[in-house]
Amino acid sequence: MLEFAMTISGEPVPASSTFEVTDPATGGAAGRAPDCSREQLDAAMDAAARALPGWKADEAVRRKALLAAAEVMFARSEEIGRVLTLEQGKPLGDATMEVVGAGVWLKYFAELELPREIIQDDERALVEVVRRPMGVVAAITPWNFPLMLATWKLAPALLAGNTVVLKPSPYTPLSSLMLGEALRDVLPPGVFNVVSGGNDLGAWMTSHPVPRKISFTGSVATGKRVAAAAADDLKRVTLELGGNDPAILLDDADPAAVADRLFGAAFMNNGQVCSAIKRVYAPDALYDDVVEALAARARAAKVGNGLREGVQYGPVNNKPQLDRVGELVTDALAGGARAAAGGRPIDGPGYFYEPTILADVADGARIVDEEQFGPALPVIRYRDLDEAVARANGTHFGLSGSVWGADADRASEVAARLDCGTAWVNTHLALAPHQPFGGSKWSGIGVENGPWGLYGFTELQVIHRSKR
Ligand code: NAD
Repeated sequence: MLEFAMTISGEPVPASSTFEVTDPATGGAAGRAPDCSREQLDAAMDAAARALPGWKADEAVRRKALLAAAEVMFARSEEIGRVLTLEQGKPLGDATMEVVGAGVWLKYFAELELPREIIQDDERALVEVVRRPMGVVAAITPWNFPLMLATWKLAPALLAGNTVVLKPSPYTPLSSLMLGEALRDVLPPGVFNVVSGGNDLGAWMTSHPVPRKISFTGSVATGKRVAAAAADDLKRVTLELGGNDPAILLDDADPAAVADRLFGAAFMNNGQVCSAIKRVYAPDALYDDVVEALAARARAAKVGNGLREGVQYGPVNNKPQLDRVGELVTDALAGGARAAAGGRPIDGPGYFYEPTILADVADGARIVDEEQFGPALPVIRYRDLDEAVARANGTHFGLSGSVWGADADRASEVAARLDCGTAWVNTHLALAPHQPFGGSKWSGIGVENGPWGLYGFTELQVIHRSKR
């Protein structure tokens, strides 16, 4: 049975009680995680606050430590990846790549410039704009990419000179606890603390007096609670929330040529990606070909235990999410949609669901308007492009979207009309450390990645020196 301690002030810390973490491929136990008490959270916040002065004092030390942390990720990717598969469900190759990706992000930020700009230097004054750390950062993550999303916060926060207390999702705490353990030797005590527990622990963090910044990734509903909790103390927040990404095919798109990429971007991590394709809009003339091309790929997809060789798609991560996907599919079918592929949970232990392509989905179906976050994709017919853009934009979400067509200039013009943080052309889910990522509307506040993501962990200070 896997069991990891929390990391507080560089030390392994168990808790007086623990909770079970389920292996979604079997429905059995993957391991147990400590249930952090309020006193232990206070100790983690206190450790982070005490580590702050030393950590923010020396930028060179921080860069070296981040590079060392990246090396740890590269060296232990398979070992940590196995734990990630056990608790999250994703295939071992994908899990290992997630750990490698965490290393890539750490390395990118280790080498990113932290600018200090002179905006005036004349006979009157020397005016500099500097970026200072905010203080202790409370980082809260979801269960779909626990390690990747933790490092999207950890790496820029630490480079800027902040210290961090991380709380992973109760569905996937083990790999983050392991991250804390893995970095104990390369980061000074208190700089990076990892605590685990339920949703209450998240709420304690957002109302705790110590953190000056909350960096949250999760659902829209929780994001609103986090923003409300932060308001009282005017803590700074970055919110990376849900998405309902549209992909619009133009009439010059070739369904056979783009189907692999469309399917890949919709079903990556079993559809449990904030910026996965969650709705496909296809023009009337291409509609049947698009549905069939996607359905063929869904039927051929190899679903199973992520530890098994050759498996492409694992289980849905947890039972409530499996039930939710099933509920949205059932609702669409009851409203007249047709399952061109899949449409049912897979029998047996574990939380498996057939990769599902839904055709002839009625407007107003919940699976079009809400975020399904699972292996079921509605394909929606359109006759008029303006109408398709309006429908694509017609939700509270605004994370990302994509437009597909042979004429890339025309597709780019349509993409620019999407109300979202990232608009892709002939691709989707192309993310990189140097590219800012964030949502408009209810999909979030602020961005992660690139210099813009780094600035989110800093506060501007103007140093104005008079020369008179
Ligand atoms: P969730 O909102 O249920 O939980 C996210 C985290 O918040 C967990 O650690 C949880 O314990 C914690 N939490 C719960 N209640 C809290 C509270 N009141 N105060 C503070 N923390 C609290 O989300 P989830 O189901 O784990 O993740 C799926 C969601 O995350 C989807 O909507 C997905 O689109 C979104 N997501 C967004 C991004 C992005 O970058 N925009 C990336 C990945 C996932």
